[in-house]
Amino acid sequence: RIKRKTVCILPGLLILSLSLISLLSGCTGGPGKTSSGRVAGKVSRDLFAMDTYMTVTAYGDRAQEAVDQALEEIQRLDDLWSVGNPDSEVSRLNRGEHLTLSPETADLIRKAIGLSGQTGGAFDITIYPLMEAWGFTSGDFRVPGPREINELLKRVDTGSLDLDKDVGTLVLPEGVQIDLGGIAKGYTSARLMEIFDEYQVDAGLVSLGGNVQTYRQKTDGTPWKIGVENPDDRVGQLKGVDYVGLLELSDKAVITSGGYERFFEEEGITYHHILDPATGYPADSGLISVTIVSSDGCLADGLSTALFVMGEEKAIAYWREHREDFDFILIDDEGKIKVSSGLEEAFSTELEFEVVE
Ligand code: ADP
Ligand code: MG
Repeated sequence: RIKRKTVCILPGLLILSLSLISLLSGCTGGPGKTSSGRVAGKVSRDLFAMDTYMTVTAYGDRAQEAVDQALEEIQRLDDLWSVGNPDSEVSRLNRGEHLTLSPETADLIRKAIGLSGQTGGAFDITIYPLMEAWGFTSGDFRVPGPREINELLKRVDTGSLDLDKDVGTLVLPEGVQIDLGGIAKGYTSARLMEIFDEYQVDAGLVSLGGNVQTYRQKTDGTPWKIGVENPDDRVGQLKGVDYVGLLELSDKAVITSGGYERFFEEEGITYHHILDPATGYPADSGLISVTIVSSDGCLADGLSTALFVMGEEKAIAYWREHREDFDFILIDDEGKIKVSSGLEEAFSTELEFEVVE
């Protein structure tokens, strides 16, 4: 069973919603709210790419060109990185081909390797063989046995990636395969901000499967409002709550990783798609969702995955070392919310939360 986050844009409020229905039928009903088309300088388009639902919205004289260009770019990057497409650069690498990578692929892999080092291996793109064994790449879900997992863990080794970043060449050692799914959407949203710059967009918003990045402020000069989705409405104070809270931001990426996004159940146990590279099993760190806020979309995406794997204690320690680069909202399996101090102003909620200094 796969659930995907979808997004619904209301006037001034972006709500992240679990239900696909809301994307298809719930987001219409008046000027400025159509799921596609142009209303008063606003252009908004929905698409399905990178295995998820996306919305790209821009305001301005050249908004149409900006959105067209953005959609083309999303398609181009998806074609480079999709593991489902046998012709993608990633699929070719994973078959052991010796490639000269496109600049974006080389850049993304270089960033992924860097993040892997910084997060003590919590983030690791060489997790692919395990993703495949668990069936997350195909949808044929299964629970691999401990012996199989141990064998596959030998192939998880970012240190073996020999990327010549100047020439852009990479050949994967035998058995090593990569999956950019933990960072690709953030890289893409960051790239779309550059396109918004090029077309001098007045205001813009992209949501790539619930990964949001905001461009400047709303056209009325107020910040964008992003709803933080409830990862589990069965626990503690999250019971019966629609949204955990609201973030009011400009020029920031807001990216959430949670075990509820993609998972299957077997014999009453839930297995989700964020794996702990240390164990080969779905990360079981006590966190049920990690939201990262950063002006760097790519970093935000990688860190949302990495901090989810690390768990609260390590995540907070990591933030204290890198607090200039990002902020977080952590939610644990009892529904407790912790917010880093940089978000104190931006975050509002009726629930209890603790500010981390
Ligand atoms: P989503 O893409 O669902 O929004 P994430 O950004 O957390 O959520 O990315 C999860 C994806 O990252 C998985 O589907 C898989 O492709 C990849 N992945 C899973 N575990 C890891 C990990 N420990 N390090 C890097 N990538 C991972
Ligand atoms: Mg991520």
